[in-house]
Amino acid sequence: MGLERKIYFDNAATTPIRKEVQEAMCEALSFYGNPSSTHLFGRTSKALIEKARKNIAKELGATSAEIIFTSGGTEAINMILKGAVCALGITQIITSPTEHHAVLHTTQSIEDEYGIRVSFVKLTPKGTPDLNHLEKLLSEFLSDEKVLVSLMQVNNEIGNILPIERVGNICRKYNAYFHCDTVQSIGHFTFDLSRIPVDFITASAHKFYGPKGVGFAYIRKGINVKPLIFGGEQERGKRAGTECIHNIVGMEKAFLLAYQNLDKELTYIRDLKYYFIQKIKKELPQVRFNGQSGSLNESTYTIVNISLPVPEKKADIALLFLDIRGIAVSRGSACQSGSVQSSHVLRAILPEEQWYEAHLRFSFSIFNTKEEIDYSIEVLKEFLQD
Ligand code: PLP
Repeated sequence: MGLERKIYFDNAATTPIRKEVQEAMCEALSFYGNPSSTHLFGRTSKALIEKARKNIAKELGATSAEIIFTSGGTEAINMILKGAVCALGITQIITSPTEHHAVLHTTQSIEDEYGIRVSFVKLTPKGTPDLNHLEKLLSEFLSDEKVLVSLMQVNNEIGNILPIERVGNICRKYNAYFHCDTVQSIGHFTFDLSRIPVDFITASAHKFYGPKGVGFAYIRKGINVKPLIFGGEQERGKRAGTECIHNIVGMEKAFLLAYQNLDKELTYIRDLKYYFIQKIKKELPQVRFNGQSGSLNESTYTIVNISLPVPEKKADIALLFLDIRGIAVSRGSACQSGSVQSSHVLRAILPEEQWYEAHLRFSFSIFNTKEEIDYSIEVLKEFLQD
């Protein structure tokens, strides 16, 4: 029965690309002029890129000049963190132990390369950065120190949500710059950047039914960051290299569709998550929810992270068991699949005795159904009975 099925519950790793997005991308492939060329071919390509920038900026309450296209979330994060350190004279970075590796490994490299101190905000018992501790850390810096805070809005493994407006206000109070990794929240929640006190946000199209290899950084007007990539004047000199027109057009289409359909699609996926949680509680009461992912209000509507009552070494066997029956889930983040080390996020939020359990992340999309959930829970039950 399982072999012919294909159930995709790994949407936090990447989402399928909407049909309309694929069509828009195919159409854009016929515009081959180099956007930097001044002839008609080039100007036509350039116009497509600038339209995408304008539409994305407008929806976010930003201006076109504040949006820089990149090859995805990781590049945007590297660009902001490294670029801010170089251009703004940052002397301290504050982040949290549950950030994505795109932030953690970049801050580590900045610490090694530039000798800049990186401090970590403690977590609350619920696994979200403790804002009192953030305030304490900020209050300890000397007034002439330049501090950059980098905290994610939605955790990609457990779905915990950070109140970014509150964090932004705290950063403003202490004159610190604030970067928010919004890779898991852009296209999933609305933003009004004209109101939210955040200096930088970063996004990736493949998390909202767009193509891989494209994303953007928002850099608030008046703040300068040094480029990461040199060699041309593209993206207002902030990111050299001939633009990937069809990816940018695909991202624009995915972004606009995400916001046009947001209420309807959010309700649909939230309902799936609720159904999954209730069903797990009823049919597999021995399973535990990690972080806030068992709550509908304190975690994002797409992610549920569970601990199975079996040792960690069986997590890969569980993945395989589900995979053979046509169900794709992950152990945490996509980058972790195949890794022998358990998740740094779960290690940061769970007591040590729970580190060695098998953890699985289910993440939902508009293309999933309750029937897929029913089937998957039956398969999980079968695995646990074995
Ligand atoms: N930040 C978060 C929270 C993510 O979930 C991801 C991707 O999984 C990234 C950054 C990296 O984005 P990209 O895959 O576009 O490089």
